Amino acid sequence: MIKGETDLKKVVKFGGSSLASAEQFKKVGAIIKADASRVYVVPSAPGKRYSDDTKVTDMLLHVYKTACEGKDISAELKAIKARYDEIIEGLGLDGFSLDKEFETIAEMLKTDPSEDYAASRGEYLNGKIMAEYLGIEFIDAAEVIFFNEEGKLNGYKTEKSMAAKLAQYDRAVIPGFYGMGKNGRVKTFSRGGSDVTGSIVAQAAKADVYENWTDVSGFLVADPRIVNNPKPIKYITYRELRELSYMGASVLHEDAIFPVRQCGIPINIRNTNAPADEGTWIVESTARKQDYVITGIAGKKDFCTVFIAKAMMNSEVGFCRKVLQAFEENDISVEHMPSGIDTMTVVVHEDEFMHKEQKVISGIHRLAVPDSIEIEAGLALVAVVGRGMKSASGTAGKLCTALAKAGINIKMIDQGSSELNIIIGVRNDDFETATRAIYDTFIGD
Ligand code: ASP
Repeated sequence: MIKGETDLKKVVKFGGSSLASAEQFKKVGAIIKADASRVYVVPSAPGKRYSDDTKVTDMLLHVYKTACEGKDISAELKAIKARYDEIIEGLGLDGFSLDKEFETIAEMLKTDPSEDYAASRGEYLNGKIMAEYLGIEFIDAAEVIFFNEEGKLNGYKTEKSMAAKLAQYDRAVIPGFYGMGKNGRVKTFSRGGSDVTGSIVAQAAKADVYENWTDVSGFLVADPRIVNNPKPIKYITYRELRELSYMGASVLHEDAIFPVRQCGIPINIRNTNAPADEGTWIVESTARKQDYVITGIAGKKDFCTVFIAKAMMNSEVGFCRKVLQAFEENDISVEHMPSGIDTMTVVVHEDEFMHKEQKVISGIHRLAVPDSIEIEAGLALVAVVGRGMKSASGTAGKLCTALAKAGINIKMIDQGSSELNIIIGVRNDDFETATRAIYDTFIGD
């Protein structure tokens, strides 16, 4: 179809569970047809149909391994083809087949196996089916998404070629997750990367909305495995989302924010299995009144604290820098750094730190000559995030009272300089109780 005029333009990305079977494909088809502004479609590979099913991407990665071992891959490829054939048949796409594509894949895996190429075929093949099902153009992501020598997205080249290509078509399917590497071979984003493709397409298309369809009705205020039936988040800013994702809340790939954020395109997280739900809006800024002072709670366990003491530390210019140099030399990233007059604590991830702890201790002694160093593991961090905290007084007070009432000792408290978050350090064992106590205080039933 050649490009014409449309009013609103939406880019719609569907995750693996939304496209795991013909039945799911039909729901997706209905969603796309229900709104004429849903013009560019970014599919993932078929995901799990039931909880112990295997994602097609994982099946493909396994075929690649088998191929590298020089073993026969035909049985594994047949099983993958069966997944697609089931969808093609279920959709009644008579006369359409992926036989040729599978011949090419088998040949490539035998002669020039590449892990990224193998993994990317899940989206490629699903994109082919989707384009046929919707009767619209298929654009191979390898022709419009480019990576640089370091394997990072080449944003400039990608936006230019993607925009030029999209300008030719009113509607199109662009498979998620991969593009073309600098060496002329297919390259993928990290796992879950179709979210990034959707964002790139939305940016290049100058879309009004980037709809990201998944199997939940948006973000929840807290992890449902910890808090019973948490409330959904209606509106969240990019910055709040970044804070929560960093602390472990996951619905969207971390890098998916950046392309749309650059041009202020809102992301709407929606549920393919409950399309009437409004989901969560991720926006640059909003004047909408919030229901609660906080937007969300997220957290992670297994941090380590390195407590450093030195008399008169406060008057020694450059002390912090010397301490941090010991971490830098060991390639360890620092999470937080609460400090006192003659003491400072450096909070790091246990898994990055544990095997290097003695090297770091000797490094700090060599560089900063402290009086003593103490290390403690088993710290959990809970981030309480909310744009509303800036203008509300007493948030930290309420937080501390909630934790005190729950009998939890706060080992660290750090208010971000943006006043967007407060990070609390508690013992790993207190993590769940702390999260529930905070939820109950700020959100309630
Ligand atoms: N199919 C890929 C994965 O399983 C990418 C994606 O779904 O976004 O990670």
